[in-house]
Amino acid sequence: MKIKILGSAAAEAVPCHFCDCRICELARTGGGKELRRRTSYLIDDDTLVDYGPDINWQMNEFKIDSFKLERVLLTHLHADHVDPVEFFWRRAGFAKQPINPLKIYSSKNTHLKIISLMALYGNSLSYDELNIEPVILNPDGTTVYEEEGKDFKLTAFQANHAPGAGPCVFMVERSGKRFFVCNDTGYFFDPVWEQLRNARIDGIVIDCTMGCKMENCWNGHMSGDVILELVGKMRAIRALKADAFVVANHFSHNADCTHEELEAFFNPMGIEVGYDGFEFEI
Ligand SMILES: [Zn+2]
Ligand SMILES: [Zn+2]
Ligand SMILES: [Zn+2]
Repeated sequence: MKIKILGSAAAEAVPCHFCDCRICELARTGGGKELRRRTSYLIDDDTLVDYGPDINWQMNEFKIDSFKLERVLLTHLHADHVDPVEFFWRRAGFAKQPINPLKIYSSKNTHLKIISLMALYGNSLSYDELNIEPVILNPDGTTVYEEEGKDFKLTAFQANHAPGAGPCVFMVERSGKRFFVCNDTGYFFDPVWEQLRNARIDGIVIDCTMGCKMENCWNGHMSGDVILELVGKMRAIRALKADAFVVANHFSHNADCTHEELEAFFNPMGIEVGYDGFEFEI
């Protein structure tokens, strides 16, 4: 399974449009790994994780062939993870036909957000018009979603984030490998720890909104010290394989950490620091 990070920022991106802090100025003037779009991942060439306000730019910048996309997995309804406007241009009269079918996997609340914005904007009336097939996820940690004839399985777990909004973290299975999408979330709730016991995950990307200088951020998002706790416990209960590929991602300028500062903290612990365009294989 090949994974490409299309975006590595938290909600407001880096640079944040209205901010002149040290991190935003560095991103503005130097670009490179300091420039962070809203968090999104491409798995192989057919699966997108999250679809935020930078998606059009990400698709063009990273030369992604949208006709190969078969599914989009949406973690939760926050605006940095789902901005459905680009879906609306799949309708006849905007994009030229035929449009390939697309599955959208998300919790009920995230589907409701997309459908209600469709109605509000008046651009389209139904998923049918957009050739979208909705899959409603139950983040119970046990239901496995499969597609007939496809090498793809998904299990959703409850995230410690956005209480009441149905936020998910995901385990994607393909080619005998397991990839875990672990953002946005704080430290897992107890039932999730039990569900993950012996999962033997091969690769993981983890919420690091609070960077490596803040401490004790356990709920909603995580700081570096809590990520180390999480990875240590995942290894101890064999949720993660000993040689799993671990990446911290989803960074906010509010944490005041440069890419280099994040690497100095995480790399000695065997954890990679995400940046836009970073590719790895598990
Ligand atoms: Zn986020
Ligand atoms: Zn800033
Ligand atoms: Zn969020």
